[in-house]
This record gives sequence, C-alpha cells and structure tokens, in this order.
Amino acid sequence: MAPDTPLEKIFRLNKDQKAGFSKLGIVTVFDILHFFPSRYGDVYSIRYIKSVSDKEKVTLYGRVRDIKVGKTFRSKIPEATAIIEDDTGKAKIRWFHQPYIAKKVSEGTLVKLEGEGKRSKNGSLVFINPDVTAVSKTPHGVGDSLFEDSSDQFLHPVYPESKGVTSRFIRYKIQQLIQQKAHESLADPIPQDVLKRYRLPSLGSALIYIHSPRRKEDALVARKRFAFQEVFFIQLQKQKDRKTREERPSFSIKPKEKDMDSFIGRFPFSLTEAQKKATDEIISDISKNIPMSRLLEGDVGSGKTAVASVASFATVSTHPEGQDFGNLQVAYMVPTEILANQQFENFIKYFSHLNIKIGLISSSGCRKFPSKTNPKNSTKISRRQLLEWVKNGEVSILIGTHSLIQKTVKFKNLALVIIDEQHRFGTIQRQDLLRKDEITPHLLSMTATPIPRTLALTVYGDLDLTLIDQMPEGRKSVIMEIVSPSKREETFSKIKEELKKGNQAYVVCPRIYAPDPDQEKALNVVSVEEELQYLKNKALPEFSIEALHGKLTPKEKEDAMKRFQDGKTDVLVSTSVIEVGVNVENATIIVIEGAERFGLAQMHQLRGRVLRSTHQAYCYILSDTENEKSIKRLQALKKAKNGFELAEFDLAQRGAGELYGKRQWGVSDMAMEALKNLKMVEAARNEARKFIEKDGSLNNYPELKKQLKKRVQNVHFE
Ligand code: ADP
Ligand code: MG
Repeated sequence: MAPDTPLEKIFRLNKDQKAGFSKLGIVTVFDILHFFPSRYGDVYSIRYIKSVSDKEKVTLYGRVRDIKVGKTFRSKIPEATAIIEDDTGKAKIRWFHQPYIAKKVSEGTLVKLEGEGKRSKNGSLVFINPDVTAVSKTPHGVGDSLFEDSSDQFLHPVYPESKGVTSRFIRYKIQQLIQQKAHESLADPIPQDVLKRYRLPSLGSALIYIHSPRRKEDALVARKRFAFQEVFFIQLQKQKDRKTREERPSFSIKPKEKDMDSFIGRFPFSLTEAQKKATDEIISDISKNIPMSRLLEGDVGSGKTAVASVASFATVSTHPEGQDFGNLQVAYMVPTEILANQQFENFIKYFSHLNIKIGLISSSGCRKFPSKTNPKNSTKISRRQLLEWVKNGEVSILIGTHSLIQKTVKFKNLALVIIDEQHRFGTIQRQDLLRKDEITPHLLSMTATPIPRTLALTVYGDLDLTLIDQMPEGRKSVIMEIVSPSKREETFSKIKEELKKGNQAYVVCPRIYAPDPDQEKALNVVSVEEELQYLKNKALPEFSIEALHGKLTPKEKEDAMKRFQDGKTDVLVSTSVIEVGVNVENATIIVIEGAERFGLAQMHQLRGRVLRSTHQAYCYILSDTENEKSIKRLQALKKAKNGFELAEFDLAQRGAGELYGKRQWGVSDMAMEALKNLKMVEAARNEARKFIEKDGSLNNYPELKKQLKKRVQNVHFE
C-alpha cells in the first residue's frame, strides 16, 4: 500500500467522515499513521451496567453472549446484535451496517465496551454501534469494586476528534492499516545510524508503539522519536537556509580600532560587559566576507540600540572594497512608525558629529539628516528624493518600517541589515529583505522576547545567538508589589499620588471586553472595558485615561500611543499589546490585572516598560489567585534577575505547549514536547549540521529530502 494513497480509495467514507478527516489534516495513509493520540487512557469513565444512565457515554467491561447477525426488521439494514453482561446487569448491543464486528468477538469473550447508553423507561439499556474490543482481563478482575485506575494493560490511545470522525473511528482505521502492514511501506526518513546513536526506534516500530503501546514506556519512546524527528527536520531546514545564504559573498567590514574607540567613547555611559561581548562578536562576524546571521537577545532596556549603532558605525565608516570613497550602507527596520521616529532621533544623536546622511522612510513621510539649511536638524523630504539618495549611496543609514523592504527601495552598497524587535516580523519578510541585492548583507536581528534556550535553538536555528544578560549599572530597580484584592483601593490611591507628580501609568488587563454574562463559565477576569470605566468613574476620575488594544485599527493604536508618549494621556489601559518597545520615559507605573493569566516572561517584559528612566518605577501585580503554584510563579517574578531565568522557570513549571503557542512560532506540538529536553534539541541540531555540511542538497538521503520539501510547501501554502 503506497503511503500517499488517499484514504477514500481504501475505505468507504461518508461525507461527514471525509470532511472530518480533511479538517484534521488527514488525507492519505501516511497522514493517518502520523496522526498521533493526544493521550492514553479511557475515552469515557468506567462504569457498571447497573449504574449507566440514559445518554451517558461510558466504558464497560463484561462478557458478550447471544451474538446474532441478520437484518433489521423493517428497513432490512444489515445488523448484528449481542448481549453484554457484568456482575450488575445486562445491556443489549446493536451494530448497524457493520455486522462484521460480530466476528471480532465470540460467545463468552471478555470485552471492553465504549459507547453511549440508551436507557428506556422500562429500564433496559441499549448501546448502538459501540466500540468493542476483546481484553484478557478487566482492570481489577471482573467483579472488583472499582474500575477507576486503568492499569498499563489497558493503555488505550485517544485521538483528537472532529465532526464525523470519533477517536474510536480513527483508532479502528489505524489498527486496520497496521494489520495490513501499511506502516511497513513507509520509508524511515531518519538514517539508521542516527537512530542507533540516540537509541530511538525505527519508524515502523515507533508507529506501532505510539498507536498501540503495551506499556507506557513504549508510548514514551515512540513520542521521543517523533519529537526528535520534528526538531531534526526543523534544524535541517534552518541549516540548509543558512548554508544557501553563506554561499553568497558579503562585504568584509574592517573598521579601524581607533575610530571605533572614539565612537564608543562619545557615549554618555560605558558599555556593559555584555554589550562589549556582543559588539566584539558582531565585529568579528562582519569582518568576514560570508554574511553574518546573528540574533541579539536582551531584556528591554539592556541597551541593544547602542550595540546596533556600533555595528552601523563600523559599516558606514568602511568603504566598498577597491574604492576609497563612498560608504557601505545600513538598513534599520522596526515594526512601527513610532519606533522608527524614535530610532531616527537616537541615531542622529550617535552620528551627528560624523559627516554621514541618515534617512527616515515611513508611510507618513520621509526625513533626512542633516538638513542643508540647519545642519543640527533633520528635514522633511520627498520620498522620491530620499530613494534617489539611497540608490546612489549618499544616504548611509536608512531607518524605516515595512516600507523599507518594498521593491522600490534600492541601495547602492547595502552591507548590514538590522531588524529591531524581530519577533514582530514574519520570516518571509526577513527573507525578502535579504534577497534584494547581489551581495548579501550581514544580518543583525534583535529581540527582547526572552525565550528558553531550547526554543531559541529551534526557531532561530539558522542564527547565531548573542545574549545581553546584564542591565546597565545604576538603574533603579522597579519596586514590585503583589496586591491582593483587599489592597486594591489602597494601591490605586498610591498610584494617584504618583500621577499627581506628573508621572504616567500603564494598566494591563488580560482581555478586551467583559465576559458574556450569559456564559456562566466565562472567566472572571478584568477587561480593558471594565477597567477603563472603573478608573474613569471611581479610582482616578481626575486624570485622562485612554484604552489601547488589538481591536483598534493600526492608526487608532498608533494615535493612542502617540498621545500617551506626548503626555496628553496620563493612564493607558491596555491588553498586552504595549509589550512592544516604545520608550515613554515618564511612565513609571505599571499595573498588571489578573496577573495569574499572563506568562512570566511576558510580565517581565511588561515590567520593562517602566524600567527606562532614572525615576523610581513601580509594578503592581494584581491577582486574587489562591493557587499555590500561581503564587510561587508571581514570587519568582519578584526574584528573577533577568528574562531568561524566568523563561526557563516557566518552561520547567508549565511546559512549552502551554506557554508558547505553536502558531506564534510555527512549531508543531510534537516539537514543543522536545523543548524541555535541551540534550535532545542540541543533538538534533548537531546531527542536522553534520548532514548539511556533508551533503547540502541531501541527495544521499532521498526520503529526508522528500519529506523536507513537503514540509516547506505546507508551510508556504498555509
Ligand atoms: P533596548 O535593549 O530595550 O533596545 P535601549 O537600547 O533602548 O534598550 O536602551 C535603553 C536605555 O539605556 C537608553 O536610554 C540607552 O541610552 C541606555 N543605555 C544603553 N546602554 C547603556 C549603558 N551601558 N549604561 C547606561 N545606560 C545605557
Ligand atoms: Mg530597542
């Protein structure tokens, strides 16, 4: 049976089943065999026959008797019937359209039954089309008092369901395919020697272990194999991308040490050790003529801009090879216009003493520094003029948002691309930027999202990592308080005093709107909407308060942010959208409502919003949780030295799946499972590296090549 055979060619599927499968992403034999159980256990709780009520879904253990095959009385539908019996009573079983099921069991067989009971008024119990499997014993022997704890004997795969296909239907189809040895027709993409090195089962065995494990260990070892495979594939792709990139030349940038020292010497501060190390790594990278691919990860306020400016200086003070005139160019990309403006101003400060031109390109206008008439200032210019100067190389540094990567923007000698807040950009945009010119520019990506090392190695597998794990000296640390509901009013009066001094505050809530009152189960957490009313009418009526959240248009968002930045609003009530890098020096207070709903690393970043000035900053963590684990987490936030520590703590405590949506990172659940295991991620990465070094096109590994190609296509067509 060929792995790419569509299931509908093998099984007779009705419309609902076809739709259900397709919703689950299952089309072929390969797909269904790679559709893994979400857990093992009983689908429904185990009951005695006597205690089953009407329409209850249950698992029963009992013996079958009176098996009969025939047709229904009126409509002549093929049917099988039987009686199931345990120590407490009897029930009837009817299987329509599937009389063959009766052949699976014989008179007196002990079985496990799963299905929905129909109890009629006279008390008789019937199961229509239940799932029945022969077993060798009940969990604790027939007649034992409790069936609750299912022993390993009864490890039972439970699959994600969809309308039209139930877990048991999927299981049944998979078992059928395995009986027909379909799993043996699948070629193993992972070479034997790799499997051996890490003691992982072959594909064939792993498929059996994962779909019908005899013991927990079987299921675990199979999952380990597939998790390894996922990370291995991701790494192969990343290493391949990297190799392709490195095959192209880039500018070799070798600044004079003396010039560098005097550039850095003009900073109003001295670089931290972490900043120095980052700078050294970058300078060493760009001195080579193979393109740099480096990710600079550092907490908000750790001083990434200064590092980026040093790299930019090195670039613009270097001439193109074989030329002693003209500068190499830098493109600096940021996610929002506010940030673009802010970095433009910063760069003017860093570079004003040098004779170089800096451009700002954004959809709302373009600027150039210096202005001809006033060399201390920038001036507004037309987009056409700016593009002209970028193209002929006169403008050395171009700062902008997405508009930077439009086709109309051409550089003369683009040598370095800096992407700030890189997690806000998709990979595709990153590639776009890089493919534009013949000589590949060096790439410096920067992010403040602290993620665990395993996740970083996986999603940024094509980049080298530099951590800035240290804050500049002399920063006042934020005063943190975990506030219980009884201290709420008191806290807001303290905030009022700070606001009166002219400071500003952020208030962050876990959701935008109040929960639907009709939905009783709706989570009782504060929304932006409610908080806005509370602050305006009760807590802080004398201040100007505004809301900011994801349901606003980009323009509305930027305007609200701008008003806050200009000090026109005192308090900004928002969802976690403010996480991203705007620097409002006057904002010294942050309140996080419903704190137990946020990830630690995320709250850490939120806290970073007020860490920017030399004023004393405050962070109030509001939570009514009594859960010990949640309280521990909030205390960890108080103690941790940096974002990375917190990310690791979060990963250990909660697991990757819960913390980092696979959507956000484009990583499957299976790969997420691997992230708690640093050794495995490193092993997969090292293996992938070796493979790509030896055989970049993977021609010696046709199955690997094929599956990799398929994955890339899937990603692109999503
Ligand atoms: P981020 O890493 O979040 O991008 P920034 O580069 O915006 O941080 O830096 C935050 C602030 O810290 C800026 O005002 C910057 O001038 C200042 N800063 C950067 N490096 C140092 C340092 N080594 N010592 C003191 N202040 C610094
Ligand atoms: Mg920054």
